[in-house]
Amino acid sequence: MSSRKPSARAKRVAAFRSKLAGADDAFERESKRSHALDIERERARREKACASKRRYPSRDDALDAIAACEEHGRRGLSAYRCPYCNGWHLTSHPWSNAT
Ligand SMILES: [Zn+2]
Repeated sequence: MSSRKPSARAKRVAAFRSKLAGADDAFERESKRSHALDIERERARREKACASKRRYPSRDDALDAIAACEEHGRRGLSAYRCPYCNGWHLTSHPWSNAT
């Protein structure tokens, strides 16, 4: 009787392992899908933060543009270094008009 135990145990282990492998597949599919979502989110963020904005080659250029805007009454703009294109963009701070 005891001689059959190892093989029964080996079968259980094999079954358990194949179950785990299936879980790995499901996990991998899920992580691939959320990775695709991440890419889409990243693309949208980039579109909003970079591609849809005017680009300035340097901080001075961006500050000049802000000064020009302020001459026309457009306040609350600030410049930031873009992590995507390494240029500079302007962003408006709605909260800075509150006070
Ligand atoms: Zn950019």
